[in-house]
Amino acid sequence: MSVVVLVSSAVASPAALSAQRAPARVLVIATGGTIAGQATGGQLTGAQIVEAVPALDDVATIEVEEFSRIGSSAMTPAHWLELSRLVNDRLEGDAGLAGVVVTHGTDTMEETAYFLHLTVHGTRPVVVVGSMRNSSAVSADGPANLLAGVRVAASSQAHGKGVLVVLNDQIHSARDVQKMDNNRVDTFRSTEWGALGIVDTDRIVFRRTLATRHTVISDLHIPPALLELPHVPIVADYAGSDGSALRAAAEGRPEAIVVQAFGGGRAGPRMRQAIADVTRRGVPVIMTSRVPEGRVLADVANPEENIVSAGDLPAHKARVLALLALAKGVEADELQRLFDTH
Ligand code: ASP
Repeated sequence: MSVVVLVSSAVASPAALSAQRAPARVLVIATGGTIAGQATGGQLTGAQIVEAVPALDDVATIEVEEFSRIGSSAMTPAHWLELSRLVNDRLEGDAGLAGVVVTHGTDTMEETAYFLHLTVHGTRPVVVVGSMRNSSAVSADGPANLLAGVRVAASSQAHGKGVLVVLNDQIHSARDVQKMDNNRVDTFRSTEWGALGIVDTDRIVFRRTLATRHTVISDLHIPPALLELPHVPIVADYAGSDGSALRAAAEGRPEAIVVQAFGGGRAGPRMRQAIADVTRRGVPVIMTSRVPEGRVLADVANPEENIVSAGDLPAHKARVLALLALAKGVEADELQRLFDTH
């Protein structure tokens, strides 16, 4: 039941009063993942996930749409394209919708959320939620995460903050959040930057906003005719690597390659040689670090020689930005600018 505060006003029209009474409408788009998982191995539908949380009625009128019922390890860039178009469509086509919640597996939640963060062009909240325990588990975290996510999506405070990831009563920016623990429910953390806010029982509290570009002010978008995103593989460096994985990746005609290097974006000697050979042949290489916190500094980059620094984005998120940037056909110096600002 929504709490309605009626303010007596001589000028309020009946239409305005009924608008005040109308509970927020939130669209839940279900994609699958552990939040839908059952002990039997089956998956709940989006409607069943919502029905399991009667407290949602106190917050919003929920509409449900089923996008997919898959584990998030099966998500692909083709899904991201379709999902982003769906979210943009629903928000553009329905001015009365307060916000959107996407239920999603946690394994690739970071990538999907960051893709939406760069390509959904509105200020209304888009919130991605999931869970670490399936719906049949003792102390399943899905219902609480869904409720918290809907509360954020229905909140005017969440406008203009980019795509948000809500789990464990914390509100993270899709840009900064990473899955940090294989099993625990407090797995999503924004490493050195911290969460944007919290979802408490009495209210939602935001403490900071993001300084990078996103949603309405993103320089990235999905061209209307685009059917497929570019090919951008990720190659990890490791002690003793001979660089052959990078050379093999270059044979697959990628538009760029993301290298997950050591601390500070440093690579071993044979990997460095492979990077020099690949970039000379015109394939941009995007340097990231396997260390979870801190930036790959600007001096690692050399856009004139096709080497770009992803800053503090981990390899899998650097790839998301690269896919969208390269779909625009940008050169390495513009790619570097986009990494520096998004
Ligand atoms: N396998 C799950 C997934 O779809 C894991 C989870 O949702 O927590 O990513």
